[in-house]
Amino acid sequence: MLTDIEIAHRAKLKPIEEIAEKIGIDSDDLECYGHYKAKVSLKFTKEVKNRPQGKLILVTAISPTPAGEGKTTTTVGLGQALAQLDKKVMICLREPSLGPCMGIKGGAAGGGYSQVVPMEDINLHFTGDFHAITSAHNLLSAMVDNHIKQGNVLNIDPRQVVWNHVMDMNDRTLRHIVVGLGGKANGVPRESSFDITVASEIMAIFCLATSITDLKERLGRIIVAYTYDGEPVTASDIHAEGAMTALLKDAIKPNLVQTLEHVPAFIHGGPFANIAHGCNSVLATTTALHLADYVVTEAGFGADLGAEKFLDLKCRFANLHPDAAVLVATVRALKMNGGKAKTELKESDPEAVRRGLPNLERHIANLKKFGLPIVVALNLFPTDTAEEKQIIYDACEKAGVAVADSDVFMNGGKGGIDLARKVLKATESENHYAPLYDLNLSIKEKIETIARNIYGAANVQYDTAAEKALKEIQKLGMENFPVCIAKTPASFTDDPKQLGAPSGFTLHVRDMRISAGAGFIVVLTGKVMTMPGLPKHPAAERIDVDEDGNITGLF
Ligand code: ADP
Ligand code: MG
Repeated sequence: MLTDIEIAHRAKLKPIEEIAEKIGIDSDDLECYGHYKAKVSLKFTKEVKNRPQGKLILVTAISPTPAGEGKTTTTVGLGQALAQLDKKVMICLREPSLGPCMGIKGGAAGGGYSQVVPMEDINLHFTGDFHAITSAHNLLSAMVDNHIKQGNVLNIDPRQVVWNHVMDMNDRTLRHIVVGLGGKANGVPRESSFDITVASEIMAIFCLATSITDLKERLGRIIVAYTYDGEPVTASDIHAEGAMTALLKDAIKPNLVQTLEHVPAFIHGGPFANIAHGCNSVLATTTALHLADYVVTEAGFGADLGAEKFLDLKCRFANLHPDAAVLVATVRALKMNGGKAKTELKESDPEAVRRGLPNLERHIANLKKFGLPIVVALNLFPTDTAEEKQIIYDACEKAGVAVADSDVFMNGGKGGIDLARKVLKATESENHYAPLYDLNLSIKEKIETIARNIYGAANVQYDTAAEKALKEIQKLGMENFPVCIAKTPASFTDDPKQLGAPSGFTLHVRDMRISAGAGFIVVLTGKVMTMPGLPKHPAAERIDVDEDGNITGLF
């Protein structure tokens, strides 16, 4: 079997204008970045709004292994399968972050014969959106520190600056830093930190904004610090939102690429699925819905995080009505949830699969609570045995949901025909989609609704810092905001070691952060990493490029 990058290199891509034409985008509305990547103009995203809307299909997954369970691969493969069934289809994905790409997971452009291409561009700098977001974020940091240095008219307490720095790389040494050292000319010393760019509130804002004006207003609402009197200071108090928006004016346009089978795909924005909402930009999704009859999109991590946020945050904010959910499951992740060691997942072990089933069952039951038709996609690996797979089919039958093999990694769209047929049927079936909770509930009631109904917790415990943050939220009149819970993806609990489907546990809320621009309250549980580190042998050690510019080792 060829590697992902070898498969991608052998593909014969079509000029991006040709891909655009298939879905009714004129070349006038395209801004090309080379031959195979283009942004679509903002004018176009506005004009399409009076075209009819297609159906929206969400791809999510059971609790994953650290390697990822194949959501992106399934999203691309399902899109290709729908295209093979002559459906007018588009795919919407997040832009990959360089952190995981150079770290453990590798790229995020799908895999095997279900990839978006050009994969090395998409995985590396692409059209520069993450650079623009990083710059906008750090511009605001620089302006806050400069304000303090230049007389501090706003009376900012340097110990209470909550706006830090970001970069798109895993570097644990920057988790805690001191800035402003070196004397009077170098600013006021204070503690600060770096997060990875995908954890920036700007990334979340970028992915929720519906226009340049909406983007600017949201950026202006970001809380950057508190004064000595405890009053919030916003980006607009610092007069930063105009320049920040200027840095983002091109980034905000959705990026068009194609899959290996020439299905059009928007790849745009990439917020974390823990401290942010974990799905591509609203602008990409809404535009795609007006261009295609079916839009297949992915939400990050497992369904307890990604799907919950897609359904409670993105769809609520953007007024989207999803038509079906595809729940990706793998034999190996179920074995891991059944207690098998990460290093032994290739061994056949039907009993471990059986022990892992409660995880699948919990995710199915959870998605049903949002009123959506569900299809389980069993993402096939060569090591899966018939006996192991049968256990999963039986469980789906018992739960009353459709299940289909997905062999899109090995066979592209052809490997997803059965899945596509079942998904089409699901989009025609009864649908009672509604968010899980009402915005009028208190913040604690919202957290507890998710903790009990989705995670299976019995109680929620709040640390002092969380209680304090809650008072601040109440003072600022933000109790009607939805909540974005940051939790480990490995477990339904806040402890990554508790796999399967634990219940009756206590969820620990450490702290809360106000994402005033994004419009949600980030609820921090357990230890959530907003600046990952590299592993002992990072993927970067294996990446290389030859004299002609051909990249190897990306996967
Ligand atoms: P996710 O989106 O859930 O994080 P990805 O689709 O990015 O997962 O897949 C994670 C990794 O696993 C990728 O390197 C991909 O190539 C690989 N992968 C996915 N599905 C399969 C499969 N069926 N067989 C082999 N490798 C796969
Ligand atoms: Mg993915």
